Amino acid sequence: IFISIEGPDGAGKTSVLQELLPRLQAAAKVTVMSTREPGGIPISEKIRQIILDPGNSEMDKRTEALLYAAARRQHLVQKILPALADGQLVVCDRFVDSSLAYQGAGRRIGIEAVAEINAFAIEDKYPDLTLYLDVDSDTGLERIRKGRKSHELDRLDVESPEFHQRVRHAYLQILADNPDRIIRVDARENIADVVETCYSIIKEKYPD
Ligand code: C5P
Ligand code: MG
Repeated sequence: IFISIEGPDGAGKTSVLQELLPRLQAAAKVTVMSTREPGGIPISEKIRQIILDPGNSEMDKRTEALLYAAARRQHLVQKILPALADGQLVVCDRFVDSSLAYQGAGRRIGIEAVAEINAFAIEDKYPDLTLYLDVDSDTGLERIRKGRKSHELDRLDVESPEFHQRVRHAYLQILADNPDRIIRVDARENIADVVETCYSIIKEKYPD
């Protein structure tokens, strides 16, 4: 089973996963494997560094979209597919919807164009279930200003509030277009409640 966690910056994906994963592992009969995008394996983590390096600000937006797709493909082939073949439950922090929202809408390449290069990259290997942690951009950005947890590179100082609004609206559109795959979770609730909701959704869909 392949599950992705999606959402705008500040939705709390990483924090929620930290609490969700041990609970899933305790309840599941299979191994739970967690991973993240862009990254997850050495080649894709290197591509992540290239994309997010502030020194690479001259990067063309289509180059960026192709690098995300390339990182995704390698991660899928080298780590996700083997784990799925082994019967594991794979939980991925971001996947293809991030590219549709961030590169397609945020950077205005167009969701269709970005969907096309990703169709090439993933060959139709969409997650079985996507939990979309929804937060409005004001709340999301405010959370991040208050306590950015990691020392990791991100794009938050570079992008405008309008960029983040486009990302969120795109996510809501993608959600509306994929009602069978994507479930919205209100991420303005406190983390413990969001974890509880995510856990219940997964358990209801995959009781074992
Ligand atoms: O989710 P995470 O915090 O690891 O993402 C790192 C940075 O990359 C964030 O600033 C996020 O907005 C950006 N990003 C992006 N396009 C993607 C995925 C992430 O711009 N497809
Ligand atoms: Mg982040």
